[in-house]
Amino acid sequence: MTARILDGKQLAISLRAETAAKVRMRVQAGKRQPGLATVLVGDSDASKLYLRNKRKACEEAGMLSFGFEFPASTSQKELLALIGELNARADVHGILVQLPLPKQIDPNAVFSSVNVKKDVDGLHPENAGLLAQKGTQPRFVPCTPAGIMRLLEDAQIKLAGKHAAVLGRSNIVGRPLAMLLINADATVTVAHSRSPDLPQLCRQADLLVAAVGQPETVRGDWVKPGAVVVDVGVNRVSDKRAKSGQRLVGDVAFDEVSQVASAITPVPGGVGPMTIAMLLENTLRAADLVDGTD
Ligand code: NDP
Repeated sequence: MTARILDGKQLAISLRAETAAKVRMRVQAGKRQPGLATVLVGDSDASKLYLRNKRKACEEAGMLSFGFEFPASTSQKELLALIGELNARADVHGILVQLPLPKQIDPNAVFSSVNVKKDVDGLHPENAGLLAQKGTQPRFVPCTPAGIMRLLEDAQIKLAGKHAAVLGRSNIVGRPLAMLLINADATVTVAHSRSPDLPQLCRQADLLVAAVGQPETVRGDWVKPGAVVVDVGVNRVSDKRAKSGQRLVGDVAFDEVSQVASAITPVPGGVGPMTIAMLLENTLRAADLVDGTD
């Protein structure tokens, strides 16, 4: 079997165009341009690249973007002071603090400090709670899990009654994705670094999502024939043939797994572009919430 490619790049282009059209309508109606503030602490090249792409996408959608960069030695107090200022600014509708943060900063203190209406990553405990609790409407869904669900929906992949395995339990990917899959009536297993016998667990899944941050961990013989595989991982590995000496690979061994799965997301071009498209949607939603039109 050769898997169908779930093309996040193409879908993201059309979603971004829809968001840009809504932004134009908003501005024509005399409202403020939506504005996103991005905050980086430290000098990770990967984080800088992600933020550059996010800011460029905002500008292409007619939104404002404000970038803040701080050295790795920044204290939690300094970071919280900045977030306090951004919470109060009328031209900033969404606040995104790029993860990971340096060790001296408690991520939970940062998540809790963001105005709940500006929390485009959906990491504030109130927003995480609204997603987790039965019978409540989430205010913001974290961008990567939201993008995965939209990609599956667009590909008309049925989730009700299916067994979904999520590898990874982070706040930003694994946990919220598990909630969304439960809400979609899937039976969900969440695995992590302490889970025994991952290959056996993965082979039981109709939908397998890998978000472990370890290159090409999921092998062909871990996958049930015909399963749908979503690869969230972004890992740089050395490659002498590449001009930069590096290439990007996911958490899934694509060549092997695409022979077994019925559908698979590529890296790059799968989940990554969908994350950006969802960030733009969340920023527009934040603008509506903050300016009181929603
Ligand atoms: P984290 O490092 O926060 O979490 C990784 C999770 O994977 C943890 O729960 C960890 O377990 C688990 N894990 C690590 N190694 C193994 C292993 N060998 N077997 C089983 N579980 C393991 O990462 P993120 O969730 O932030 O990101 C995961 C990956 O997705 C990264 O490659 C990241 O770059 C990528 N990413 C991509 C995005 C995109 O838009 N494409 C957006 C966000 C992330 P434990 O909890 O026990 O430590």
